[in-house]
Amino acid sequence: MRSQDIKEVGRTSYNSGRNVTTAWTLWNIKVGLSLYRDHPPQDSSFVTAVFQLDEIRNIQDKLEKIVVGGGGDIPEAVFDGIINGTDGMQWRDGSNRIAFLIGDAPPHGMAYEEPCCLCGLTWGDAVAALEGHGVTLYSISLHPGPKQVFKMLANYTGGFLVESPGVMEAICNTLTSIFEGRLDSSVLEAVSKGKSTEEIDSMISVSREKSAASFHS
Ligand SMILES: [Zn+2]
Repeated sequence: MRSQDIKEVGRTSYNSGRNVTTAWTLWNIKVGLSLYRDHPPQDSSFVTAVFQLDEIRNIQDKLEKIVVGGGGDIPEAVFDGIINGTDGMQWRDGSNRIAFLIGDAPPHGMAYEEPCCLCGLTWGDAVAALEGHGVTLYSISLHPGPKQVFKMLANYTGGFLVESPGVMEAICNTLTSIFEGRLDSSVLEAVSKGKSTEEIDSMISVSREKSAASFHS
């Protein structure tokens, strides 16, 4: 994954829509991160690095400090990134779990007739890890090359390839589609508890401003 792309994810503002902003606040979304590169000798820095679920602003701080570069060859250790990120994440009980695969190169084991990753992992291992933790994978391809294999990986878990000009826009659009129904029911619940439309609107507005302020701090 390229440095400028990962920074775009980190610093993009919450201006992408009221529903998403409200969803992040009302639904207590936590964000983790699993970075992957490649196995030696293709890359000698690291294979994967996992950051636990945290507030979005704390993850943003980490993203800003990370310099991401390409490995020696085109394919990357995508399966390792998926598996270590999924198995290594401290998921919350009962949580709605989704993951975004964001990259510009295909996995070792799904390109150039490689049967598996350099370490022996296969796409089946990656899908099994996701399914084992109840995680639906959505893919964002930053290059046309891996689009088809990213789509396959997502489809195997019930997710899909998200096509959008920007990474953050793709994430926001997907979150909106996932959380929209639940968001509406939360507003309905507030109405049923006797809150006025002004109170509900004010609650949502405050959430949005508070959220935006913390994101930029
Ligand atoms: Zn591997």
